[in-house]
Amino acid sequence: MSNWRYPVTPIMTDSLIREWIEQEKERGPKPTAFDTPLRFSSAGDCSRALGYQALKYPITNAFDAPAVWVTGLGTIIHEMVQDAIGRRYPGAVFEPKGAVHGLTSGHADGVIDGETIQAVIPNWDGGRALFELKTMGGFAFEKSIGLKRRAKEIDNPEGPRVSALLQSAINAYVHDCDTLIIGSISLEAASRGVAAGAGLDEIGRFIAEWHIPKSVWMKWATAEIERQRNIVESAQKGWLSQPVIVEDVDDEGLVHRSIDPTSSRPYWKCDYCAYKEQCVADGNGILEVN
Ligand code: SF4
Repeated sequence: MSNWRYPVTPIMTDSLIREWIEQEKERGPKPTAFDTPLRFSSAGDCSRALGYQALKYPITNAFDAPAVWVTGLGTIIHEMVQDAIGRRYPGAVFEPKGAVHGLTSGHADGVIDGETIQAVIPNWDGGRALFELKTMGGFAFEKSIGLKRRAKEIDNPEGPRVSALLQSAINAYVHDCDTLIIGSISLEAASRGVAAGAGLDEIGRFIAEWHIPKSVWMKWATAEIERQRNIVESAQKGWLSQPVIVEDVDDEGLVHRSIDPTSSRPYWKCDYCAYKEQCVADGNGILEVN
């Protein structure tokens, strides 16, 4: 008798992802908003990957099915949340294009004037806001808010991912905003028991938001723009730098870390990098390209 407890090859449940994978193939690589070498969403990426991108190297590691799925769900959630923000804050602007000319460009999830927010939240004193939304799995969400499952407590939150901080900081710089509002929506809620112990309410089990003033984010934006400019200028002169990632931000600016995709424990982003095969074939160190 067959053991029905083992899952079989899907013939129904994978129907939507099969369509999305085909659509992803037909779409091909997305153009940048203003035909710039880089895009805002690449903020914080490894210097080698940014060099490949600036020189329009072909992608060697396309999105796999889970990446297509997570990105597709993220897009649907973005559109629905943006619609709801528009109903709550009439006058909010979504997906405005922006650029640091000749370098990087992209779209902001939302830009909302201070008076528009004050009409709903009268004590808002953060001025013009840049809204950035990220969806993520439960593990990443718990790390960002510092939720410790075993101890059932909140301790030492990491905050939003550095890539989200830098992407939104550059957007805020370009759109002349005062405050970054970064929102996270987890695709998996913290359990009721853990949340009760940690003092999280029902919204806090899967939604978090951070408000970051200009005095904090501006130095991240300017440092990342300068880093990207150096990388692009080097690439255009025929040099690809050795791989260095922005691992974190602090009060001074960016915290860098050298990485190597061939090391015994490669940095996690290498496993998701669109240029991994190219990078491994090229080897570590500074590369001269023709
Ligand atoms: S594989 Fe890793 S080191 Fe190489 S370009 Fe990608 S992120 Fe950078």
